[in-house]
Amino acid sequence: YDDRDGFIWMDGKLVNWRDAKVHILTHALHYASSVFEGERCYNGKIFKSVEHSERLRKSGELLDMPLPFSVAEIEAAKEATLKANGLTDAYVRPIAWRGSGEDMGVAAKRNPIHLAVAVWTWGNYYGDAKFKGAKLDISKWKRPSPETIPHAAKAAGLYMICTMSKHAAEAKGCSDAMMFDYRGYVAEATGANIFFVKDGEVHTPLPDAFLNGITRQTVIGMLREKGITVHERHILPGELEGFQQCWLTGTAAEVTPVGQIGDYNFEVGQLTKDISTDYEKMVRA
Ligand code: PMP
Repeated sequence: YDDRDGFIWMDGKLVNWRDAKVHILTHALHYASSVFEGERCYNGKIFKSVEHSERLRKSGELLDMPLPFSVAEIEAAKEATLKANGLTDAYVRPIAWRGSGEDMGVAAKRNPIHLAVAVWTWGNYYGDAKFKGAKLDISKWKRPSPETIPHAAKAAGLYMICTMSKHAAEAKGCSDAMMFDYRGYVAEATGANIFFVKDGEVHTPLPDAFLNGITRQTVIGMLREKGITVHERHILPGELEGFQQCWLTGTAAEVTPVGQIGDYNFEVGQLTKDISTDYEKMVRA
């Protein structure tokens, strides 16, 4: 991804894509002091753009690295990057990190916090699984307790076990992995939240140990508006067998049907199809 044409916004300037670099002693590279966002621009408008900028600032605060950019400045940076790259339909990746500077060690209060924004074209996150239903592995890694990590932050450090889980899943021919949390409850996939359907009602894990996705919140609102009951609750592994439908939600994943988790099978049913279509219409409206 580093060798291509285009522009990346870095600390207020648009730089050539190939020149958007950091020093090897960047604090974030050593100690994971990095927070980011994933957004999608549809027809020239970023869906829930301000919510994403606010979450980025909140993630920074949770990691004791307040961003030196306001929501308005982040919004302007995203617009400028899209414009410079001539894209109206794109994935948008703002990232903030603690850089290199006076300190080289765990504590590095004096090192500056940086912000960059990159945008690129990204189609269906799960390829044709969007239509057939994705096949998910079950990860051996558990989402940690809120006393172990700031789970509400979209922070790089939280993704170490996600990358390992997804690599293991792909090695088995799966698209992704479902993760349990530290208590053994169903949590989410490695970059998307999860929903289940049973007898016309929807069940989704309570986001008390993982990211409460913006897409997740949007989809819950859409379901309730349709008059569908949504239960946000703790879900035990033994319940998987009783669910008829399943889908994932996320900015990149949008609404992706799930056909299989480990040995459990799900149908790509009517509600899954409806909510996927409704979501596509909404983001482009
Ligand atoms: N969980 C994880 C771990 C994620 O990386 C994402 C993607 N940001 C989500 C859930 C979904 O969040 P959102 O709907 O805000 O994109």
